[in-house]
Amino acid sequence: MPNYRIAAIPGDGIGKEVIAAGLRVLAACAARDGGFDLAVEQFGWGSDYYKAHGEMMPANGSELLKPFDAIYFGAVGAPDVPDHLTLWGLRLSICQPLDQYANVRPTRILPGIASPLRGVTAKDLDWVIVRENSEGEYAGQGGRSHRGLPEEVATEVAIFTRAGVERIMRFAFDLARSRPRKLLTVVTKSNAQRHGMVLWDDIAREVASDYPDVAWDKMLVDAMTVRMTLNPASLDTIVATNLHADILSDLAAALAGSIGIAPTANLNPDRRFPSMFEPIHGSAFDITGKGIANPIGTFWSAVMMLEHLGEAAAAQRLMRAIERVTSDASLHTPDLGGTATTNQVTEAVCAALLGDN
Ligand code: ATP
Ligand code: MG
Repeated sequence: MPNYRIAAIPGDGIGKEVIAAGLRVLAACAARDGGFDLAVEQFGWGSDYYKAHGEMMPANGSELLKPFDAIYFGAVGAPDVPDHLTLWGLRLSICQPLDQYANVRPTRILPGIASPLRGVTAKDLDWVIVRENSEGEYAGQGGRSHRGLPEEVATEVAIFTRAGVERIMRFAFDLARSRPRKLLTVVTKSNAQRHGMVLWDDIAREVASDYPDVAWDKMLVDAMTVRMTLNPASLDTIVATNLHADILSDLAAALAGSIGIAPTANLNPDRRFPSMFEPIHGSAFDITGKGIANPIGTFWSAVMMLEHLGEAAAAQRLMRAIERVTSDASLHTPDLGGTATTNQVTEAVCAALLGDN
C-alpha cells in the first residue's frame, strides 16, 4: 500500500486554519479509501518564523522538501511584514528551486454556489487557467538607483525565455487537448509590449502546429477581462504569463462565486521534484481567528493533490463530497452569504466522504 509523504506548510493567517481543516479531510479520504496512507510532516514556516529567525524559512528549506511526494500549502503574508518579503521568502523560494513551472487553476461554479454574473450558471463557466510560474514579470530582475532622490529610477524587468515559454505552451496545449472542448486561449499584451509578448505570440503559433486538433485563439489581456465577464462560455483552457494569469485567476475565482473556493496546483510536470497544492486566496487577516474561513479552496487543492499522486478514485470521491456540501446553503461560510463555520464545513465534508459509496 503506498504511503505518501506530505509536507504541510500552513503559513500565516487563515492558512493555518484551512490547512488544519484540509489535513482532517485528507485523513478521512485515506481512511475511507483504505488503499493508501498519508504521512504528514508540518513545517512552521512563514511570518512568525521570520519574526523569530529573520527569514521566512531555513536557507535549505527547498532541499528539505525534495524527498516529499507533495506539498500542501496554506497562505503567506502578515500585516506587519512587507508583502514582497513574504512572497519571495517563502512561496517563490519553493516554486523556483522545485521547478514548479506550471501553475494550474481550475475554475467552475460548484453546485449551490451563485456567480455574481447575472444568468451565468455552471454550464457557462468551466475553465482551467494555466499560469507560467517560473519567469516573466516575476523573475525578480531589475533594481533601484538614486534611492529616495528626485531622480530615483526603478526597473522591473520581465524575462521570457524560449525554453520557458515553449514548455508552458506545450503544457497548455496538452491540457486543452485532454478536455472535451479542445479549446485554448493564449493571453498576451503584444500590442503594447513588443519583445517578450511577441515571443509568446510566435511560440504559440509554432507549438499550435503540433496540435491541429486543438482550436486556439489569442487575446490581449485587457480585452480578456471583458470576455471572461461578458462571454464566459466562449472560454475553456487559458494560458497566460505569471502576472497576467495571477490577475485573471483572481477575477475567475470571484466570477465563480468566491476567492475562498478556488484551488491551485504548482506542478513540476516532469516529476523530478514534488508539486505544491494550495488555495489561491491569501492569509486574510481580516477574518483570521474567527473560525469562518472558507476551506473549500483548500479541499479542492487536496483533490488536485490526490489526482497528481495517482489516487484518481479518492480524488473523485473527495470532489463529490465537496459538491454535496456546497449544494447545501446551510453549509455556506460568510463569504458565500451563509453563517457556517470552517469546522462545520469540514465535518460535513468528512461525513459526506464516509457516506459515499
Ligand atoms: P494576499 O495579499 O496574499 O492576496 P490577502 O490577505 O489580501 O492576501 P486575499 O486572499 O487576497 O487576502 O483575500 C481578500 C479578501 O477575501 C480577504 O481579506 C478575505 O476577506 C476574503 N477571503 C479570502 N480568502 C477567504 C476564505 N478562504 N474564506 C473567506 N474569505 C476569504
Ligand atoms: Mg490579496
